[in-house]
Amino acid sequence: MWFKSKSFKGGVHPPENKAFSDNKVIEKLPLPERVVIPLAQHIGAPAEPIVSVGDEVKTGQKIGQSKGFVSVPCHASISGIVKKIEPRPHPVGGDVLAIEIEGDGNDIMSQDFDFNPDYMVQSVDEMKENILEAGIAGMGGATFPTHVKLSPPPDKTIDTLILNGAECEPFLTSDARLMIEFPKEIIEGLRILMKILNCKRGYIAIEKNKPNAISLFHKLINDSKQSDINVVGLKVKYPQGAEKQLIKAIVNRNVPAGGLPMDVGCLVQNVGTAKAVYDAISKKLPLIERVVTVTGKGIKEPKNVLARIGTPFQQVIDFCGGLTDDAAKIINGGPMMGIAQFDLEVPVIKGTSGIVILNTKQAILPQPQPCISCARCVDSCPMGLMPNYLATLVENQKFEQAKEFNIKDCIECGSCSYVCPSKIRHVHLFKFGKMHVAKMMKPAA
Ligand code: SF4
Ligand code: SF4
Repeated sequence: MWFKSKSFKGGVHPPENKAFSDNKVIEKLPLPERVVIPLAQHIGAPAEPIVSVGDEVKTGQKIGQSKGFVSVPCHASISGIVKKIEPRPHPVGGDVLAIEIEGDGNDIMSQDFDFNPDYMVQSVDEMKENILEAGIAGMGGATFPTHVKLSPPPDKTIDTLILNGAECEPFLTSDARLMIEFPKEIIEGLRILMKILNCKRGYIAIEKNKPNAISLFHKLINDSKQSDINVVGLKVKYPQGAEKQLIKAIVNRNVPAGGLPMDVGCLVQNVGTAKAVYDAISKKLPLIERVVTVTGKGIKEPKNVLARIGTPFQQVIDFCGGLTDDAAKIINGGPMMGIAQFDLEVPVIKGTSGIVILNTKQAILPQPQPCISCARCVDSCPMGLMPNYLATLVENQKFEQAKEFNIKDCIECGSCSYVCPSKIRHVHLFKFGKMHVAKMMKPAA
């Protein structure tokens, strides 16, 4: 059944800018000549290398072993020779230990990865093990290990699973294309996730600026009479795809401050993660490639590409015709929450949903001015925080008070900065403030 447009309190509506790439069919990027696979592409402990320089590796072979429960392995995304294991620039910042593979051009698979039509017969434990072994971490950008999310404590019952196809970040269209081109796989991924959690109700949540995807899922779900799955059209508003906002919009439950979706019986997974789960369970295929939107006024031919993990940004950009003469800023992810890049040797990682390239006009940030107490930031904050006050507390290094005013609940969505007439860069301040609060809360060693 259709739902009326659902949403949440607060938020903003920046220009969508999806038209650069929303009708571009996913194109397979040519096999890279070399890849750089960071051992940390997820939240949690980095993987540990299990290959050495000079080793021959095959596509899909595990090359990094997960270390501890909150960690995932990583795999060779091409076949070839391990050339180096050393720290390399990472798209979310800093240098991270990475494995460089020089390709042999043959893409020799480490095993068959054949489709098993009886994949649903697997036990829940087998499924979780296969998801871990495939190295899956949230593909919407959060990169939290999926097997961990699927293992809530015994006292938490999940009755609602939400597939997040909102893709509310301006410019990005990788999830939209995935939904249009792989809807059956995504629905099967949802079924697998529901089985693992013994969850009776599934939702596929899509912003209404993707009417083709909504119609397609609606038809598929209706035709197959899957009455336990609902397709929900959401109001187009940023950050509609944030977990707590999705839960509020769809089942009207409030995740408590400092709490998790599981505290209100919910779990949210990205549509790309559902597709990766389907591949892992039905073919034992590890996560070695993903769809990346390459877009913005600074790229000559915006596209959605299927890129092997570890492909340098430069190669992806070259495949899209290269940068325009006025290209000024390259962002890993969308313009609201993404991170500016200064080295095009950084690789595509599991969380790279897009590479957005702004031109000079779009990239200029005016100098911040003093706060005029207009409270627009307060109205826009989807978490009900007071960004103006929090910013002042952090500037004055009053971290204890910032903690009392729930700075840790900030999801760094940037809505406050977006509406601020004084162009105050709240998110920079809040990242800094949250780091200090986390240090304060850490038990002394
Ligand atoms: S305070 Fe945090 S959660 Fe609220 S609008 Fe600003 S960045 Fe978003
Ligand atoms: S929107 Fe900007 S100027 Fe207005 S109250 Fe918030 S921080 Fe101050």
